[in-house]
Amino acid sequence: MDTPPLPASDSSDTVAARLAAVQARIAAAVAAAGRPAGAVQLVAVSKTHLAAAVEEALAAGQVAFGENRVQEAAGKFPALRAGHPGLRLHIIGGLQTNKVRDAVRLADVIESLDRPRLADALAAAIDAEGRAPALLIQVNTGDEPQKAGIGTEAADGFIAACRVRFGPALRGLMCIPPADGDPAPHFRLLAAMAARHGLKTVSMGMSGDYHLAIAAGATHVRVGSAIFGVRPAVA
Ligand SMILES: *Cc1c(COP(=O)(O)O)cnc(C)c1O
Repeated sequence: MDTPPLPASDSSDTVAARLAAVQARIAAAVAAAGRPAGAVQLVAVSKTHLAAAVEEALAAGQVAFGENRVQEAAGKFPALRAGHPGLRLHIIGGLQTNKVRDAVRLADVIESLDRPRLADALAAAIDAEGRAPALLIQVNTGDEPQKAGIGTEAADGFIAACRVRFGPALRGLMCIPPADGDPAPHFRLLAAMAARHGLKTVSMGMSGDYHLAIAAGATHVRVGSAIFGVRPAVA
């Protein structure tokens, strides 16, 4: 006897369905932490995925998207924004100083401010463009040599200097904990650092650990593969 054909697709296997599942899990984590409904915003990380996938998420009500490369964002987002004026683009990846001007022109939020030279370049680009995206400082909470982010020793001084320099455009902090080990202590460290500086935005938590980040006080979680599926391997 022939085996029956597999269904071509499963109704849970769409961007809209995965987005709804992530939103439900965020709401459950917020409630479990005793935090008010709506305390956490979802940034859907669309890097490497086509504009059509972003369109699916927009149609399902998602407004904030994260991209880690300025060039890729510049190719995808101006056309998407034209059709969806409420769209908010977060640049979440390491920023080279020669891409800063484009980033300031494109982004609503830049989450990867992590060194004095980049602060200089951002200040110059904000002046030149007459436009100031919201800024988050990326902290290398694990002090990993290969990773972006200001080190924990230098972080307090850098945050204080950026508050003076950027004023209200500086909104908060972002981190990517070490890949191995428990991320919770890193999440708690970042939330405490933000509170110490009176900064409201705490961007932390990805597909594998956003529930833990929400328990530790995240205001923004950056979730990619749980919404858009596995990314093609980078060549
Ligand atoms: C890719 C990426 C994410 C999302 O990662 P997933 O594991 O796919 O959810 C979040 N933050 C940053 C900075 C990223 O580069």
